[in-house]
Amino acid sequence: MNRLLKMLLALAILPVLASAHNSSGTVALVGALVIDGTGSAPIENATLLITGDKIQAIGARHSIRVTPGAQRIDVTGRTIMPLLVDDHTHLGQTINGLEPAPNAYSEENIRAQIEHLLAYGVGTIAVMGTDHDLIYTMRQEQMAGKLPSAHFYTAGRGFGVKGGAPGGAGAAWDVNRPETPEEARAEVREVAAHHPSFVKIWVDDSYGRAPKMKPEIYQAIIDEAHRHQLRALAHVYYLADAKSLLAAGIDGLMHSIRDQPVDADLITAMKARNVLYVPTLVRDESTFIYAEGPPWLSDPFFRAGLLPAVLDKLESPAFQQHAASDPDLAKNSASLQMAEINLETLFNAGVRVGFGTDAGMPGRFLGYFEHRELQLMVQSGLTPMQAIVCATHTAAGFLGRDFGTLQSGQRADFMVLDANPLDDIRNTEKISAIWQGGKPVKPIAPM
Ligand SMILES: [Zn+2]
Repeated sequence: MNRLLKMLLALAILPVLASAHNSSGTVALVGALVIDGTGSAPIENATLLITGDKIQAIGARHSIRVTPGAQRIDVTGRTIMPLLVDDHTHLGQTINGLEPAPNAYSEENIRAQIEHLLAYGVGTIAVMGTDHDLIYTMRQEQMAGKLPSAHFYTAGRGFGVKGGAPGGAGAAWDVNRPETPEEARAEVREVAAHHPSFVKIWVDDSYGRAPKMKPEIYQAIIDEAHRHQLRALAHVYYLADAKSLLAAGIDGLMHSIRDQPVDADLITAMKARNVLYVPTLVRDESTFIYAEGPPWLSDPFFRAGLLPAVLDKLESPAFQQHAASDPDLAKNSASLQMAEINLETLFNAGVRVGFGTDAGMPGRFLGYFEHRELQLMVQSGLTPMQAIVCATHTAAGFLGRDFGTLQSGQRADFMVLDANPLDDIRNTEKISAIWQGGKPVKPIAPM
C-alpha cells in the first residue's frame, strides 16, 4: 500500500469527525433514497436516524420524527445502502495485492487490509481457512473496539489434502492436511478450541492434476465440526463433489459449481437444509482476464486502491503475455460462463445465495473485487436489487444478526452513494460517504 493511501486511511480511522455528533448523540440523514438490503422497495425521501452505533429509526421522511437537537445531514439526491458483506475472503496473503509475500501474514498488513476494505464500503468479511492463530488475538482487539476497520469472521486454519488443494507456495497454504479420519477429527478439535466461526475444507483436484480430499476425510471433518457446533464450508468445483458434500452434511458451498449445469437433485438438496451458495464469480474472472487486460483496469475506483507500480505491472505487455500463456485459460473462461449460468438457475430456484469474492489472494483485489462481483452477478441475470440483497441481507445473515440491513436496532453500517445502483449496479462505486457503527469513516478517493 502506498504512503498516500496509508495516510488517507489513517485519517479515515480518526474516531469521529468532531462535528458528526452533537450532544444528544443523534444524527439524522435526511432526503436520500434508501435501499435497506431486505429487498423491500426503496424508500424515497427517507430519514435515517442514528443514535450511538445503532439505527434508531428509518422510513419515509414524513413518518420519522427527528429528535430535537439531533444533527441533520442533508443527503437529498443521494442513495443510501448497507455496507457490503463478503462471505469469502483471505487476509495476509499478499502485501501489494498482486504477488504473494512470505511476510504478508502480519498484524500490520492485516490491519491495513481491513481498513482498506472498509474504505471501499465493505463492512464485514469472512476469512476462508487461511488464517493463522494471530487472527484470534486480532479478533480480541476488534471485539474491544480497537480495530476501526471491516469486521472479520474466521474459519481459522482450514483443511486440505497432502500434495493437493490448496496448492502453491507461500503463507497461504499453511493448513491442516489430515490423512486419516482420526487425524481429521483431532485437527478439527484443535481448530475448534480457538472458537472460529466455521470450518473450511478444500475439495478440488485442479483440473485432474492433484489428489482430491476423500469422502471419508471430509465426512469426519464435517461430523466433528458439527459436534462442536461449527458449520462446515467447502471449496468446490464439480457438481458431483457438491452433491457428495451435501449428503455428508456441508453447510455452505463457497464457490460456484463450474463443470456442468446444476440439476434438480442439487437444488433439492441445497434447499432441504438451506445451504449457502457463494458464487465468487470475480475469482473466476481473475483466472483469465489479465491475459486480455481487464476492462476495469482504467476504472479510477479500481486504480485508487493500487500502488502505481502494481498498476504499471498489470498494464505491461510482459504481464499480459505471461497471463496469456496459462494453458488453463480457455477452461477458466468456460468456468466463469458455467458459473454465471448456474447462479441464475440456483437463484431463481430459491437457493440461498450469499456473496463472496475470494479476494485477498494475489491478483484478487480486496475492496474493488466486491463491487466487481456485484456487476458480474447482474451480468448473470440477477437484478441490481437481487444482487444487493445477496451482498447485504443474505451474506450478513450467514454471519450474524445485527448488521447487513438498514432497520431500526441494526448497527449503523451504510454507505452514501452519488448515484442509484438500481439504475446501474456500477453506481455502488460512486461512494461519497461511509458510516460504520454510527461513525463516518473516509472512503477511498478515486483521483
Ligand atoms: Zn478462497
